[in-house]
Amino acid sequence: MSEKDKMTKNDPEFIAFRELCNRHGLAATIQRFIVYQTLCQMHNHPTPDMIFERLHPTCSSVSRMSVYRILEQFSRSRIIRRLNHPGSSMRYDAFMHPHHHLICVDCGAVYDIPCQEDEQITLPPESVPDGAIVLDYTLDFQGLCRRCAAKPV
Ligand SMILES: [Zn+2]
Ligand SMILES: [Zn+2]
Repeated sequence: MSEKDKMTKNDPEFIAFRELCNRHGLAATIQRFIVYQTLCQMHNHPTPDMIFERLHPTCSSVSRMSVYRILEQFSRSRIIRRLNHPGSSMRYDAFMHPHHHLICVDCGAVYDIPCQEDEQITLPPESVPDGAIVLDYTLDFQGLCRRCAAKPV
């Protein structure tokens, strides 16, 4: 382990990250920490490529493939959310508080829409297929962002 890695491991943010990973049954590594921190700093629901471009200048040790792989591990462990919007590339969200999204049908930009606690949708148990378990849901609103709405047709 390099001196820099040793320092990172005592960083309070890394310690908080390790606790988060522990709760979700995932090992906390420096590479995973870098990817998670970068995603948390970006509030635009970035694609794996956007995350890679952002971290690459300072952390060349994390490859594009690692970014893809780590994001998938996080999403499977439910540390972050993967957004699958038809017709647009895969995006990720580190904001795990329940919220909705407004998606621009033109450029694919994704905006957070706050939702009220009492707005939670619950499914009647009889509507869930036998043996299936509901883990999460998202509500997506389709529209145009300000920039696309202002574009001449
Ligand atoms: Zn747009
Ligand atoms: Zn979001």
